[in-house]
Amino acid sequence: MKIILLGPPGAGKGTQSKVLAKRLNLPHISTGDLLRQNVAGGTELGKEAKRFTNKGMFVPHDLVTKMLVDRFQKPDLKNGFILDGYPRNLKQAEVLDGIFNAKKELIDIVIYLDTSESVVIQRLSGRLVCKSCGGNFHVKNMPPKVSGVCDSCKGELYQREDDKEATIRNRLEVYKKEVSCLLDYYKESNRLHAVLADEDAPVVLEKIIQLIKAGNDTSKVG
Ligand code: AMP
Repeated sequence: MKIILLGPPGAGKGTQSKVLAKRLNLPHISTGDLLRQNVAGGTELGKEAKRFTNKGMFVPHDLVTKMLVDRFQKPDLKNGFILDGYPRNLKQAEVLDGIFNAKKELIDIVIYLDTSESVVIQRLSGRLVCKSCGGNFHVKNMPPKVSGVCDSCKGELYQREDDKEATIRNRLEVYKKEVSCLLDYYKESNRLHAVLADEDAPVVLEKIIQLIKAGNDTSKVG
């Protein structure tokens, strides 16, 4: 099954994708994580991407799309995947469908994590990420047992450069500019489902699971 999670920065796409990936036994692909790995590894792609990610701007289309296409070549994706962070605009959605249509395959379900702006800002400004395993914590909502240390792998926790307040606002502006075309695109092809995602992560997760299990038409955004 090929699943896309859409939503503003801070909607919980990364958090939900990681848990869903385990529950459904599917790989999780996050373009943000792939870019951060490249930045941390000092690759050419990472050096180029960093100029954009640090400001909360989109990384140029060709760069991010090529990176994703390379990831799609790996054999672990034969049963599907959970994709988070891509597409972010109409052009990327069309490219993605093009890739799979050429193989006579389809993105099966697109889940939109509908989240209010105040919740997004509160989540992002308190978010902590593990340098080693990428696990997410939050200073108030989900604090680690030991301050600054990842519960799972004992890695060091840090605040993402683009989770600083000014950059968060920029990311939200960029997101808002693009999202309605993207939602319309998936609505028209009857693949869009919405989940209200202001609640705590476990509550939202159950809603997503029910949706995937049931293939439930009632949540379709019409
Ligand atoms: P994320 O971890 O999804 O919040 O992504 C972090 C940053 O990576 C974004 O603010 C963008 O700068 C960049 N990025 C991630 N995915 C994409 C994409 N599909 N297109 C362009 N830039 C992206």
